[in-house]
Amino acid sequence: MTSNDALLVCGSGVSTGIPRLSCVLTNASGYAGHYGMYQFCKVCDHALNVPGSRNKRGNVQIAVRHDGRIVLVDAGKTMRESLLAHFPAAKFTHIDAVLLTHGHADAFMGMDDLRDLQMPYKTGPGDAAVKQQSVLPVYCNKPTYETVREAFPYLTETPSPEEASVRRVAMLDFRIIQDKQSFEPVERFRIQSIPLWHGNQYVSLGYIFYALGRLKNAKICHLSDVSEVSPDTLDFLLEESAAAPFDVLLVDCLLKKDWYSTHFGLPDALELVRRLRPKRTLLIGMTCRGFGLHDKMNKELHQLQETEGLRVELAYDGLLCEF
Ligand SMILES: [Zn+2]
Ligand SMILES: [Zn+2]
Repeated sequence: MTSNDALLVCGSGVSTGIPRLSCVLTNASGYAGHYGMYQFCKVCDHALNVPGSRNKRGNVQIAVRHDGRIVLVDAGKTMRESLLAHFPAAKFTHIDAVLLTHGHADAFMGMDDLRDLQMPYKTGPGDAAVKQQSVLPVYCNKPTYETVREAFPYLTETPSPEEASVRRVAMLDFRIIQDKQSFEPVERFRIQSIPLWHGNQYVSLGYIFYALGRLKNAKICHLSDVSEVSPDTLDFLLEESAAAPFDVLLVDCLLKKDWYSTHFGLPDALELVRRLRPKRTLLIGMTCRGFGLHDKMNKELHQLQETEGLRVELAYDGLLCEF
């Protein structure tokens, strides 16, 4: 018996997306003119001009499939193009629930397009039948909900099914979760939220997905936006890892050499990886500067396998892990 359970990395890049506008315009101008300090950017040039380039990155977004149900984490600015590019090939055909990590544009600003993932259906035969949409549950913490409500008031005022059908807005059912909570967004889909510092005094949520795969013993940990892990959260992650290592750890990694006020860089990400020792680590949220081309950087990271027994790599848009 094979499992249909899978993780799809729909987007793996920084909030600007890659190629970045600043790099493309600097590259086109041939000097560091309007966009300042930069030299020619090989990564953005590759992302822009080479079909299928793994340097091309949308906002961080993943989808997890378990027992035929699909949960999407985040719906940022690039959601539509990421899903168009990567859902069909991975045979991800629909969405059953959405989890939001936090209230920044790269995590939720594509939510208007959720309406087109909610196919209207008829309640009965003939012209008299009323068209209805299914309701999509969206899980987030209270501050994220408040931010979404301000940005998209029409998505948080629940219309009647008939009204939604006429207006063609998404039918969303917001469910507020605590920063640390175990919940089941759809049946048999067990998830734990984890609080992470994402800059000074701002909490984003990480998520652990449990009981995946044919033997129901695979688990994924997704830490997309993190600048610091509190001692409590670290203890929790260490306990989880001691019970059974994560099959996949996705972790924020904006820069290669440096720390940034709101995001891990590679040194922070590797420090966490050395503590948790997951079976496989996918770095996400990268910008173009510093890393160099995707394949070259991954060859460099591959050395960690030989030196420390750690499988660490940059993720790419469209990466599929099956369990
Ligand atoms: Zn660039
Ligand atoms: Zn953010």
